Amino acid sequence: MKFSELDLPANILKALKKMGYEEMTPIQEATYPVIFAGQDLCALAETGSGKTAACAIPLIQKVDPALNAIQGLVLVPTRELCMQYMAEIEKIASTTHVIPYAVYGGFDKKIQIAKLKQEVHILVATPGRLIDLLYDGILSFAQVKCAILDEADELLKVGFLEDIEFILSCILHEHQTLLFSATMPDDIKKLAHDCLRDPQHISLITDRVAPESIEHYFSYTHPKQKQIELIKYLEGEDINQVLVFCNARHMVDSLFRSIRKDLRDIDYMHAGLTQDKRSATIEKFRSGKLRYLIASDVAGRGLDFSHVSHVINWDFPRDGEQYTHRTGRTGRMGRKGKAFTFVSKHDLPSFRKLIRSRKITPCWIGKDPLCENNTPQDRRTQTRKRTFRPRPAEGSKKTE
Ligand code: ADP
Ligand code: MG
Repeated sequence: MKFSELDLPANILKALKKMGYEEMTPIQEATYPVIFAGQDLCALAETGSGKTAACAIPLIQKVDPALNAIQGLVLVPTRELCMQYMAEIEKIASTTHVIPYAVYGGFDKKIQIAKLKQEVHILVATPGRLIDLLYDGILSFAQVKCAILDEADELLKVGFLEDIEFILSCILHEHQTLLFSATMPDDIKKLAHDCLRDPQHISLITDRVAPESIEHYFSYTHPKQKQIELIKYLEGEDINQVLVFCNARHMVDSLFRSIRKDLRDIDYMHAGLTQDKRSATIEKFRSGKLRYLIASDVAGRGLDFSHVSHVINWDFPRDGEQYTHRTGRTGRMGRKGKAFTFVSKHDLPSFRKLIRSRKITPCWIGKDPLCENNTPQDRRTQTRKRTFRPRPAEGSKKTE
């Protein structure tokens, strides 16, 4: 369905056209009537499927710019996501009088307070800074009609949950609440339900949990060999941009130090850096000035990098959700992407769980540890061996 078939105001349609949005994505089409009708919603759809605009378009449409008050509140788990969400709302609202604003940590609070005292209709925020501002008493939620939790399962996890409950408790009157996510683990589902009133559930996540636009490669490698194997792998690939995930900040630092001599146009980011450095690095990566970015999971959720062709899991992800979010930084909007994950002996139980739960068909690069073990369960696992492109002679024998 086209946006022009909706009853959208002409100015919003014009902005969408300028952005190159003509056809609605499936999640946009499915959620629009529910959001527009004012119902609560829990919406699940793959990474890169257009959830931001699904929510932002009807939200902007609902705001009354003549009323100088916050009417829409969007909560996101990271600062980078806050800026990205804000940028999308700004574009969609560019032809309207709706004023969005983003507040997040690591940025001068005085400037934020000054802006909030002027006029803001849609506030996009990370929970920490928002609570700070609530305690300062300069925010009023009296006119909030709609509250949105993006990356909802992350926001409802221990660590964030109390903050979110507190923020939502500050909206005293009846309002609409919308939850958006690409994943929803069972233990979070109940919490999600507790935030909502008689909600609609829309899930476009099919049986095949991992997006089909991503191919999943794995390499069973001794930790000491990982760097050599990674360089070898990248040399044989047609690369646009590569995002490498590590599980800890110190791993990001040390991998960057040791691999920068082999790869050019490379930088790193994690939550331990200043906000200025974080923002500058994301911007450089987004604009294509960097080819490789080594990152912790602050870059794993929600960020829209259209040119990432490869996601590397240097460290095996903690669980299936983390795998989905990291690898979802590639293969966006139906483009093709590749995920490459190092598996050590110690990761094998998690690996088995991952491919079962996400229904992933793994392709092994090099040795397939499951075939070697050859237990009845392993034999059921579909694997396809693949050799590096620079060595085609070996490939003819080993490939299926
Ligand atoms: P998600 O939140 O589901 O991971 P995003 O909202 O970040 O996905 O959108 C992914 C990409 O798709 C973005 O680059 C966005 O600009 C683009 N996009 C969203 N909706 C449309 C549309 N209707 N037509 C074309 N591109 C779209
Ligand atoms: Mg998103």
